[in-house]
Amino acid sequence: MSQHYAITMPQLSDTMTEGVVVTWEKQPGDRVERGDIVATVETDKAIMDVEVFKAGYLAGPLADVGATIAVGAALGYITDTAGDVAIAAGEVVEEKAQTEMIPHHAGTPIVMPQLSDTMTEGVVVTWEKQPGEAIKRGDIVATVETDKAIMDVEVFQDGFLSGPIADVGSVVEVGHPMAFIVDDAAKANDTGVTISAEHKVKDTHKVAPPSADKPAHIPMPKAAPAQISAAGNVPPVPRPQGRQASPYARKVAAQLGVNLTGLAGSGPSGVIVAADVARARPSMQEVAHSLPQVDVPGQGRAMTSMEKAVSHAMTASLTLPTFDVTVNIDTAALTAAAKANKVSVTVAIAKACSLAMAKFPRMNWAYQPVDKLVERANHDFGVAVMSNDGGLVVPILHGIEKKSLEALQGDWTGLVERARVRKLAPSEYANPTFTISNMGMLGVSHFTAIPTPGIAAILAIAANGPQGTPFTITGDHRVLNGADVALYLATLKQTIEAPDAWMAGGATVATEAVTGKAATVSAPVSPIPEGNWDFPVVVVGGGPGGEDCARDLADHGVKVMMVNNEPFPGGECLWRGCIPSKAWRAAADVIRNRAHDAEMGVDGTNTPKLNWAQVEKHRRWVQTSRGEMALKADKGMKIDVREGYGEFVDAHTLKITPVEGEPYTVSFGAAVIATGAPAFVPPIPGARENLATGGVVTSDTIWNLASPPKKLGIVGGGVIGVEMAQIFRDFGTEVLMLERNERILAEIEDEIAKALIASLEKEITVVTSADIKEASGKPGAMKLRYANKEGVESVFDCDVVLMATGKRPDTSRLNLDKVGVELDGAAIKVNARCQTSAPHIYAVGDVIGGYMLAHTAATQGRVAADNLLGHASEYNQDRDCGVTFSRPQAGFVGLSVAQAKAKGIDAVEAKMPMSIDAKAMITGETEGMIKLVADKVTGRIIGVHYLADHTDTLIGIGVMMVAGEMTLTQVAKAIFPHPTQTELFGELARRLLNRLRRTAKK
Ligand SMILES: Cc1cc2nc3c(=O)[nH]c(=O)nc-3n(C[C@H](O)[C@H](O)[C@H](O)COP(=O)(O)OP(=O)(O)OC[C@H]3O[C@@H](n4cnc5c(N)ncnc54)[C@H](O)[C@@H]3O)c2cc1C
Repeated sequence: MSQHYAITMPQLSDTMTEGVVVTWEKQPGDRVERGDIVATVETDKAIMDVEVFKAGYLAGPLADVGATIAVGAALGYITDTAGDVAIAAGEVVEEKAQTEMIPHHAGTPIVMPQLSDTMTEGVVVTWEKQPGEAIKRGDIVATVETDKAIMDVEVFQDGFLSGPIADVGSVVEVGHPMAFIVDDAAKANDTGVTISAEHKVKDTHKVAPPSADKPAHIPMPKAAPAQISAAGNVPPVPRPQGRQASPYARKVAAQLGVNLTGLAGSGPSGVIVAADVARARPSMQEVAHSLPQVDVPGQGRAMTSMEKAVSHAMTASLTLPTFDVTVNIDTAALTAAAKANKVSVTVAIAKACSLAMAKFPRMNWAYQPVDKLVERANHDFGVAVMSNDGGLVVPILHGIEKKSLEALQGDWTGLVERARVRKLAPSEYANPTFTISNMGMLGVSHFTAIPTPGIAAILAIAANGPQGTPFTITGDHRVLNGADVALYLATLKQTIEAPDAWMAGGATVATEAVTGKAATVSAPVSPIPEGNWDFPVVVVGGGPGGEDCARDLADHGVKVMMVNNEPFPGGECLWRGCIPSKAWRAAADVIRNRAHDAEMGVDGTNTPKLNWAQVEKHRRWVQTSRGEMALKADKGMKIDVREGYGEFVDAHTLKITPVEGEPYTVSFGAAVIATGAPAFVPPIPGARENLATGGVVTSDTIWNLASPPKKLGIVGGGVIGVEMAQIFRDFGTEVLMLERNERILAEIEDEIAKALIASLEKEITVVTSADIKEASGKPGAMKLRYANKEGVESVFDCDVVLMATGKRPDTSRLNLDKVGVELDGAAIKVNARCQTSAPHIYAVGDVIGGYMLAHTAATQGRVAADNLLGHASEYNQDRDCGVTFSRPQAGFVGLSVAQAKAKGIDAVEAKMPMSIDAKAMITGETEGMIKLVADKVTGRIIGVHYLADHTDTLIGIGVMMVAGEMTLTQVAKAIFPHPTQTELFGELARRLLNRLRRTAKK
């Protein structure tokens, strides 16, 4: 006897309970193969294909086009008999699952729901019902773990839970069955199936076929029209002329009152589908008029068009779920500063709102139907003004984020004049990104304003009261949460109450003072240019900057190529910098720490012996393991990794010269340059010449040393020189350090540097203000000739000379002139978004200068990616940090007092020596100090500076305090565990608070 299989309505989303047949792609009698698309159906989300998993012939009866079919019910059949175009009613039919993962008998599959956009599979965490148990529509039968959280699985039909049931821990692909629902407890099957991580593997579990006397119930297609909601049984709108629209879309259009003419269709061949209708966004007028109206007695006059627009907007605002947050702000200083700067208080407040918004860009976003957010970088604020006829007009101050106060004042004067007589051009009042309403002058003690669709927040400013001026934000809860608004208002308060920090020099100073970024950089978003490129984005360089950038882009689905002229990613950091130097430092630490064991009462450990071969083996193991891991991860993320040297041919073409094979070119939409900065060797006689012999080394070549030198000459007293000096000192090397300037460690905070230098000078000889004359000789017998401050010449005989004289970007072979990328000295010039002078080219990491640190490069890589993805994002050096892996370790987060003062911040600091810390005393690690820097006006912590053992761990606390803009009071109240060195942070905050309190009283 021939076999017949049902093609059932698949459940293609978690909310889908039924689908509408849109097309049949095959006709009854047609041959179908496994994987063929036989029909399309419309779900509540989109038009989707119905695929079959069995070869045979399509057989009827087929569900009519336009028919609504319940999930799991039959749409048609597959028979293995050619020419059998319709199976007979009552013929025994064996139903086939939608997938081959779990074979089953008649029953509706409970499929793994798609619970987030990114979810492709889920793990079964629990079953809340057992096979055979009765279940009701809406019951939670299981919980599954998605890529986001553990979520409930709800069923959409009554019945009894039946197996084969996916075992707890099974990985099930979205849309594939986890279990089944049968309509009779006797039919329930209680077997379990463990689905492997490959989850496509067919389980061969045998399920008893339905017994002949009780044929499986196969629901037949219903011809009833689709019900789009319980309430509405609206007839569909007519088909638009000359266009295709799915029946479901026409029904939704009828219910939402959307006109299909002129609507773009996103379905196959431009068919209008329900999602297009939902996106059609009725106008404010349509929304206002679609609400039920209450009759009002009297003779109404027609509204003016202005009155109508306000009425519609206000009614449409009912679609926004809003909440209010109020903060009292002292506006006295701002009023005075505005006067001194000859700008109106309104303009000054608008600028302050914009400055604060640079830190909380969400305030400037908007909800867009359906379920989208418009992320805007342009600050176009509507500011309510009374017109001469007593009405309210809201002209827009455009581009507040990039204009000076003076320019804004100029704009404002003209706008107010035109607003008062209602003579604004549409562009002057349409589409604000945020709105300010100031009724302070009318003496109101408190009020809230209403945001309308298109903005996420409106600011209502009331009259000055005993506790200051109430600033109330009414926010759209779909875009903002209470904390967003509270933090924004706190920053706005800080900005308004300390106007001198940003008002004196106009907008340029303003942006820098408040955001720590250059003002010229709040440029508009620069998306990837449209075009038929080989790659929308190419990244040149595979160090921390390039790799993080490429990963972020790939993570967001951008096709990205990363070209790196080394076999593995990781750049200098992995192969010549952070990682190998810290591997050496780790061995050196063991030696150094053992020297103090006797003080702690442990004898016999203080004669450690260096096993250089093992040190090197361990270092190389770390490097190669991490390199391989990185490459695997990059490829796994679908980054197209190429080994080769990249150079620009023109604005959208990159030439790649591989190690082997011919050079080739690729076209690109946007590019990110992350080529790093090699060690720089100044033209000291003999220095460059001896690089080839190995008599002179740099941080690029020191890794080739066959053994630690007995005597090492180091030229340059920066972080790299100091780290190397101490490592080799611990390895038993005699070290002489020569520095051209008056002080070594110029990049480290003054007091910390002085303390570290004092320590260092106990171990090695440091000659500052040195005039380095020559490096000569051969490896193992080098002579370093120099003169000291007094001009007295000496020669240091050593095995090798390390030139630790800084790093300098070398872009000479990139052909930057062909793409319009400008330099600033040797570095590529960028704005805070890491965008170069060519708008579609970004540059990150060491190649742009500034802090040449791995995490800085990686952060900038992510900033560039963010901007390329269309989000406004900036690198803020004032929040950056770094550790010098000396002993003790030096570290910084944020600003020093001197740096803060240079930015106009009234900064104060407190410091505590490590010698008073209990834990440090116990472990004998009492050298150094920790310093906390705070903004006196706001009490926020803006810097933390360290000289302490374990700074590499302790610095995390500083990073979080500065990044989280924590206040001294918050840190003072935090509970730190005892005895740990973290207690010092609480102590420092309390000490600084007390000091501020005492000085405030005077
Ligand atoms: C001894 C030493 C110790 C250090 N210690 C630390 C530390 O402890 N912490 C820290 O944060 N930083 C440290 N650094 C600094 C850190 O290594 C760099 O800041 C970081 O690697 C910079 O990353 P990047 O992505 O900008 O460039 P790089 O890491 O230099 O990567 C650039 C990559 O681009 C490739 N490349 C260059 N030109 C081209 C081209 N035209 N085509 C294709 N590929 C190209 C290079 O080969 C390289 O792989 C240290 C540096 C040194 C030298």
